[in-house]
Amino acid sequence: MLRRTLDIAVDLGTANTLVYVTGQGIVVSEPSVVAIDQATRDVYAVGLEAKQMIGRTPATISAVRPLRHGVIADFEVTEQMLRYFLGRVHRSRFAHPRLVLCAPSGITDVERRALVEASSAAGASAVALIEEPVAAAIGSDLPVGEPSATMIVDIGGGTSEVAVISMGGVVCLESVRVGGYDLDEAAALHLRTRHRLATGTETAEKLKIELGSAWPVYDERVVEVRGRDMASGLPVAVAISAREIREALAPTLNQIVLAIKRTLEATPPELAGDITSSGINLAGGGSLLEGLPELVTAETGVDAVRVAEPLTCVAEGAGRSLEDFDTVLKATRSWTSAPRRAATTHT
Ligand code: ADP
Ligand code: MG
Repeated sequence: MLRRTLDIAVDLGTANTLVYVTGQGIVVSEPSVVAIDQATRDVYAVGLEAKQMIGRTPATISAVRPLRHGVIADFEVTEQMLRYFLGRVHRSRFAHPRLVLCAPSGITDVERRALVEASSAAGASAVALIEEPVAAAIGSDLPVGEPSATMIVDIGGGTSEVAVISMGGVVCLESVRVGGYDLDEAAALHLRTRHRLATGTETAEKLKIELGSAWPVYDERVVEVRGRDMASGLPVAVAISAREIREALAPTLNQIVLAIKRTLEATPPELAGDITSSGINLAGGGSLLEGLPELVTAETGVDAVRVAEPLTCVAEGAGRSLEDFDTVLKATRSWTSAPRRAATTHT
């Protein structure tokens, strides 16, 4: 009997990597972090375990994010990370799953090829790439295949992508290398300059999630933030208001808003009309920031809503596209060499 190997979809994000397996759904969802020994290049931990090591490792071991701003900053480590996550779902050395990989649209052809190579090296028999906004739209049940236009904005850790999709393809796209990490940095910078408070990136991210906002929804809220006083070097706690964090995040958020506006301007008039009535869909972890739909709606004059599952829609959409692997592969072929083992591409 022919044993069908499991097919896999991977959302390789700058912040989180998700793995979807046919028949099972999303089985892995972990931070895109690898702990490696800088001297020997040995991998100590991947994912959640590695993330918990950030800032806590001995001198030679460092926890790195191999994808910075949606590009592969360290190819070797990216490959190891991909191999590890794939290894978690298919244990047999002889199983060579077909793989749909979701990559940020802003990456170059060289980077795309590097991703495909890393996937093949990690054991995939055939690799197809799907554009992130398309996957996000499919995974959010948006009407991508129809001739009317849909706008989706995917705000990740290191990139934000704004896309207009019609008839299954991307009509307009704007990708900015600004995302959730930049908001964390803006919050940390504010704490340093206004309160002389030094904090780690984890604390800044936590503060953004707990207190940050894009719109004055709870300006009067105050939380106590612990860190180190930069002058005395001693641990301190400072009361921080939601309003000041909102103001600190505003310039970074404005870069994302400007990208949305530019995309709306570049959209052909008929399609722009569709978007005015269908609205703007916000996806990605960054879209969970409080008040973001309100900000985008106010700035663009078009209703903006969060999709139902901002963190998982890309993996879900890429996973569903496995059912139509050949079509996705065809769309991929313009910038990848045909995979050696792909028996499915013959006409
Ligand atoms: P990527 O696709 O780049 O891996 P994700 O879509 O997983 O990114 O989103 C990760 C980003 O979402 C991080 O910057 C994280 O801080 C941010 N994020 C997650 N939850 C929230 C929240 N509730 N409010 C604001 N930002 C959030
Ligand atoms: Mg993403």
